[in-house]
Amino acid sequence: MPKTSSSFEDSPPYLYVHTIGCQMNEYDSQRVQQILGVQGYALTGDIDQADVIFLNTCSVRAKAEQKVHSYLGRLRKLKARKPGLKIIVAGCVAQQLGASLLGRFEHLDLVLGTRAISSVGGLLHRAVTRSERLVHLPEVEEDGWDSFLKQGHLTSPGVVAPVTIMQGCDNFCSYCIVPHVRGRERSRPADEVLREIRLLTEHGAKEILLLGQNVNSYGKGLDEGLNFSRLLHRIHEQTTLLRIRFTTSHPKDLTEDLIRCFADLPQLCRWIHLPFQTGSDRILQRMNRGYTSAHYMSLIEQLRSLCPDMGLSADVMVGFPGEAESDFRDTLRLIQDVRFDNLFSFSYSDRPFARASELPDKIPEDVKAARLAELQHLQGEIVLEKNRAEIGSVREVLVEGSSKQSDGRQLTGRTEQNRIVNFEGPTELIGRLVQLRILNAFQHSLRGERTAC
Ligand code: SAM
Ligand code: SF4
Repeated sequence: MPKTSSSFEDSPPYLYVHTIGCQMNEYDSQRVQQILGVQGYALTGDIDQADVIFLNTCSVRAKAEQKVHSYLGRLRKLKARKPGLKIIVAGCVAQQLGASLLGRFEHLDLVLGTRAISSVGGLLHRAVTRSERLVHLPEVEEDGWDSFLKQGHLTSPGVVAPVTIMQGCDNFCSYCIVPHVRGRERSRPADEVLREIRLLTEHGAKEILLLGQNVNSYGKGLDEGLNFSRLLHRIHEQTTLLRIRFTTSHPKDLTEDLIRCFADLPQLCRWIHLPFQTGSDRILQRMNRGYTSAHYMSLIEQLRSLCPDMGLSADVMVGFPGEAESDFRDTLRLIQDVRFDNLFSFSYSDRPFARASELPDKIPEDVKAARLAELQHLQGEIVLEKNRAEIGSVREVLVEGSSKQSDGRQLTGRTEQNRIVNFEGPTELIGRLVQLRILNAFQHSLRGERTAC
C-alpha cells in the first residue's frame, strides 16, 4: 500500500480511528485496525499525523448522527492542508445516507456500509492509487473476516476482547433505526466464533465480551440447532478464558435455560445488561417490545434468586411519543424496585424509518429534559448507595491495565458485577485475577487494595 502523504517516506502510513456509538462499532473499528495493520498502516492517536481517517458512525439517536455531521465538517480544514489524506466513513450513518454523504462532504473519499467492513483494504487501495471516491453498500455481509482470521492475522487484543456473534436485528422496536440500517438478524457459525476466541486467547485475551443486538436469540437461521445457552456451554468447555460476558439481552428472549447458565458456568460473569426502556406497559406495547413490566420484574427475581449478587444494568428512555406523567412515574418506580448497578438513560428522538417517528403526541424537549434529569438524579443516588455498600467487601477483579487517570501509577479492573476498581500494584498483574478489599466508593468507580491472599 503506497503512502498517501508524508514528508517521511520511510515511515509507515498512519491510520487514525474515531468511533461513535456502541461496543459493536468498537469491535468493527478494531477489525479495520487489524485489516489495515496487515497492509502496513500504523495506528496513531494524533489526527494531524494521519494519512487515513476512519470514522465509524452511529445513528441510533439523533444526537449521535449530529455528532457525525459536525465531525466531518471539522475534517474539511485538515484535508485542505493535506490533500493526500483519505477519509472513510462507515457504520450506520454511512449505510443510511450512502452516496449523499459524498455530495455533501466533498473532502470525503469512501462511504462503507454496515456489511462492508471486510472490504476496507481493497477499497482504500483504490481510493489511494486511483483517487477514486467510492460508495459501497452491499446487501449481504461480505466474507473476508473469517478468512483473515484463518490466516492467523489477529494481533494484540486487550485483556478484554469483544467478539460479535450476530449482526442485525429482527425485533423492529418502533423507535429504533437498527434493523433498517444493520439489516435482518444473522448469527455467526459457532465454529467461527470459537476460532476467533481461541485466536484471541492465544494472543493474550482473558475475557471475551460476546456482542449482538439481541444475543439471546443467537442461532436463528443457522443449521447447527444451537441456541445461545448451548453456545455459552461450548465456549465454556472449549476455551481457556478466565471470564465470559455478553451483551445485549432482550427481556422477551431471556429463557430459564439461559438464566441457569449464570449458576452453572463458573467463568460466566454474574452480570447482565437487560434494557427495559420504560416501566409503563402502555408504552412498552407502543414500543413493540414484546413483554410487560411484570414479566421484566419476574426475570429480575429469577436472576437474583439464583445469583443474589448478580450485577444488573439496563437502558431506559424518557419521552417516547404519548408518554404521560403517570407512565414516567411507572419508569421511576421500576428503577426504585430493581435498584440497578448502572443505567444508560436516553431522551427519545425521532429516527428515519422508525414507526414511532410517525406517532402523534410528541413530548416537548423541555419536558423530556426535565424527566431525564429527574431519572438520572434518582439513579445517581442508587448507584452511590450501592457502591458505598461495597466498602469493606473483598472482590475478585480481572486487571485490565493502567488506570488512565493516575498517569500509570494505578491499575484498573472490573468485578464480576462490572464495577470498575482502581488500586495500586505492579503492571505484572495485568491480565490476572486479584482479590481486592474495597476501601472507597465513588459514582463511577471503587478504590481497593490487594488482600494478603
Ligand atoms: N439491542 C439493544 C436493545 O434492544 O436494548 C440496544 C439497542 S440500541 C443500539 C441502544 C439503546 O439506544 C436502546 O436500548 C435504547 O434505549 C436507545 N435508543 C434506541 N433508539 C432510540 C431513539 N430513537 N431515541 C432514544 N433512544 C434510543
Ligand atoms: Fe433496536 Fe429493539 Fe433491535 Fe434493540 S432489539 S436493536 S432496540 S430494534
